[in-house]
Amino acid sequence: MNNKDQVRVRFAPSPTGPLHIGGVRTALYNYLFAKQQEGKFILRIEDTDSKRFVEGAEEYIEEAFNWLGLPFDEGPTAGGKYGPYRQSERKDMYRLYVNKLLNAEAAYIAYDTAEELDAKRKEINNFQYDASTRMQMRNSLSLSKEEIEELIEKDAPYVVRIKVDPNIDITVNDLIRGEVIINSSILDDKVIFKSSDQLPTYHLANIVDDHLMRITHVIRGEEWLPSAPLHVWMYKCLGWEDTMPQFAHLPLLLKPEGNGKLSKRDGDRLGFPVFPLEWTDPTSKEISLGYRENGYLPKAVVNFLALLGWNPGHDEEIMTIDQMIDLFSFDRCSKSGAKFDYEKAKWFNHQYIQFTSDKDLEKQLRPILEKNNVTASEEYAEKVIALVKNRANFIEDLWEQGNFFFEAPIEYDEKTVKKRWKEDTPQHIAQLIEVIESIADFSSENQETVVKKWIASNQLHMGKIMNAFRLALVGASKGPHIFDITALIGKQETIERLQRAIETINKE
Ligand code: GLU
Repeated sequence: MNNKDQVRVRFAPSPTGPLHIGGVRTALYNYLFAKQQEGKFILRIEDTDSKRFVEGAEEYIEEAFNWLGLPFDEGPTAGGKYGPYRQSERKDMYRLYVNKLLNAEAAYIAYDTAEELDAKRKEINNFQYDASTRMQMRNSLSLSKEEIEELIEKDAPYVVRIKVDPNIDITVNDLIRGEVIINSSILDDKVIFKSSDQLPTYHLANIVDDHLMRITHVIRGEEWLPSAPLHVWMYKCLGWEDTMPQFAHLPLLLKPEGNGKLSKRDGDRLGFPVFPLEWTDPTSKEISLGYRENGYLPKAVVNFLALLGWNPGHDEEIMTIDQMIDLFSFDRCSKSGAKFDYEKAKWFNHQYIQFTSDKDLEKQLRPILEKNNVTASEEYAEKVIALVKNRANFIEDLWEQGNFFFEAPIEYDEKTVKKRWKEDTPQHIAQLIEVIESIADFSSENQETVVKKWIASNQLHMGKIMNAFRLALVGASKGPHIFDITALIGKQETIERLQRAIETINKE
């Protein structure tokens, strides 16, 4: 493949806050397609709207993709020969294309003040600045040469608007939606540049950069579909038809109930994150939940997101990133929105916890252990993980399910005590201690054989003994196989816990 044909895709977020999980899905599809085509995956920061700029948002984006394991080939941090990759650092480049459009009379200068525009909106229902209204406005098309000279003399603030000719069918070729034909009369003469900050707007900067960065495919959310005809129009005005990227507009991520776009409020309402990482708003200090902090494994998040709007053509849902890269295709991206199913996200995470080595899980559990002042060795923690991971959906669950391996119970679940600790229990447990003391081979299997033999030969009730035994070890009626617990905590600790149970349960 020569360089000219190389696929180049970009993820182009505006750093206006934490990155929504829908944006992560967009980036992921860009990544899958780029890797499949042996192309480049580029990060471009669209920060020309200084009013909406939020401190820390760009760093957040980079950190999120590092965590997810989706590295950019080019970008502000990765570098690359088409940089700079922040639009705020490309300011000077845009002016050239504004002038090009003005010279070609494909754009014009408008002097209307905010008040004048407001008044017009009041006067005309559904007012739109376009071919049908522009001559009623104050711009370089409607004003006389003298009037314009006077405005230039006064240094009057202005904007540059793109001049969209009416009644032309504009075709957007979309890899997911096919041909989308829009009549130009419904488009308005969008502002492409403002003199007040000397900055281009999204529409101009976006297509100029796609052109200069040799972008071949624009893969983005459906919410940008309405901008596409204008972008196609602008490509034509700039004489760039031949290098116009192909479009693919991805379906929306919908609320779990399916009515409308998934929002942060849905996450708050239903208790799940809609952002990859936790985010603290720099002004309000409000905290938004993140998948990372909520105990998700990045691979599970990637797998889950890949299937929200695309299907691999088979029923197997668990896929490695290489399989996804292999199978990705726009043909199997859906046109309609994908319902966000949080239970499914949990299911994926549960599956991935099972595939992850105990060693890797231990690394993620360690901060939680430290928070709980547990100093157990890695080896010990890994053994605990092996025993409890099949009950865990999240890293935090490894602690919830296995905490008693690290610290003896200090209290006993009341309901379980009532049900499982009878008058004669202390006496049986005292005998059990003697049996345990006598066991030399403390493997799970051997303990089980010996204890069960003792129960049978003394005609004791198996369930009764075992349930009380568990209560003494765990403090509740949960946990893995009893003899796996005792084998791991060891003989000494087992006996101490049994003794403590006899001494404390029902003794208040
Ligand atoms: N800056 C836009 C955004 O925030 C980019 C849209 C596009 O990909 O063209 O999503």
